[in-house]
Amino acid sequence: MLHNSLYIHIPFCARKCRYCDFNSIVSESKTVDRYLRAIEKELSSLQDRYVFNTVYIGGGTPSILSEVQLEKLLQSVIRYIPSSEIREYTVEANPGTLTVNKIGLLKEYLVSRISLGVQSFQDRQLQFLGRIHSSNDAKNALDSLRIAGFRNINIDLIFGCSEQSIEDWEKDLKTVVELNPEHISTYALTYEEGTSLTRDLEDAVIHKLDEGVELEMYKTAIRYLTRSGYNHYEISNFAKYGYECAHNHVYWNNMGYVGIGAGAFSFIDGVRTSNEKDIGKYIDGINENKNIKSFRENLQINQFASETVIMSLRLRQGISNVDFYERFGYKIEDQFREQINRLAKDGLISYADERLKLTEKGLFVADTVMTEFI
Ligand code: SF4
Repeated sequence: MLHNSLYIHIPFCARKCRYCDFNSIVSESKTVDRYLRAIEKELSSLQDRYVFNTVYIGGGTPSILSEVQLEKLLQSVIRYIPSSEIREYTVEANPGTLTVNKIGLLKEYLVSRISLGVQSFQDRQLQFLGRIHSSNDAKNALDSLRIAGFRNINIDLIFGCSEQSIEDWEKDLKTVVELNPEHISTYALTYEEGTSLTRDLEDAVIHKLDEGVELEMYKTAIRYLTRSGYNHYEISNFAKYGYECAHNHVYWNNMGYVGIGAGAFSFIDGVRTSNEKDIGKYIDGINENKNIKSFRENLQINQFASETVIMSLRLRQGISNVDFYERFGYKIEDQFREQINRLAKDGLISYADERLKLTEKGLFVADTVMTEFI
């Protein structure tokens, strides 16, 4: 049986955040119930086909489920996925929807890691982003998780909001370090097409933060968090020793995963597929035993290798030539010699000791460097 990672998508939220373009909607409870039944059926179809080492329930907002719904979902997972093989089981939670009882259920059903979507500890920033919770809600949620015994917690933060100063960002970093989570993710705010924030930007109601300030915020995060004992192991991610996210490592190493739920992607043996994104169509498709895949792509070996290099460069340790050779049967330079020479000459990547990785200079222009490997 294949060892893989499992992602389960819960596409429901209490309200749409102003920057969000994820596959999530505000929905009535009846639809959520129908969706959870479809998830259970899709999960049952995986039984005995895979062994999952990591499970990640994301969204959307999994913590928006009622206690009854959450328990049903957690029961479905435990029914069809052998828990003895799972070494990391993450559930995403929004501090505005996490209750003590829900935390109790997560613990009871062996969830080992919680990823809290905090985004900021400043209420002004939270309002700008359209989040439903306050800074105090986030601190209380973290307290409750600790009391319940969770010892592996991630906190997501966003920087680069208009009107946000470097001092504001430093305050967020100071607060998060004081709260002492095992893992911290920091993302620059992006303006995605069709979001309410992007409309405000187009109407000049808000303005984009200067790129130089945004870069300085990123550098500040790296300096402050590494000095505070967090290992900067991936472009946007920091962890205490031994707490790097195993599930996301699967994506960054371009290994196999199975996605369950509306719009979820799977990637098995070089074949990428995606489930129907529309929630109604996904539920109907599952109920009527139809093919719910709306997208399928069979990667050619050089395309697979190219994606693998791009994804692995996100990791500060980069990609090992030995691993690459084992997977693809040739060396990295056999496909990318020209790019490596050029980028190394510009000081953006290093290729030494059989390892290709971004330099610090390359880290700050990572997107540009990566496009060279497409
Ligand atoms: S909680 Fe997350 S998924 Fe839901 S609307 Fe906000 S950013 Fe999007």
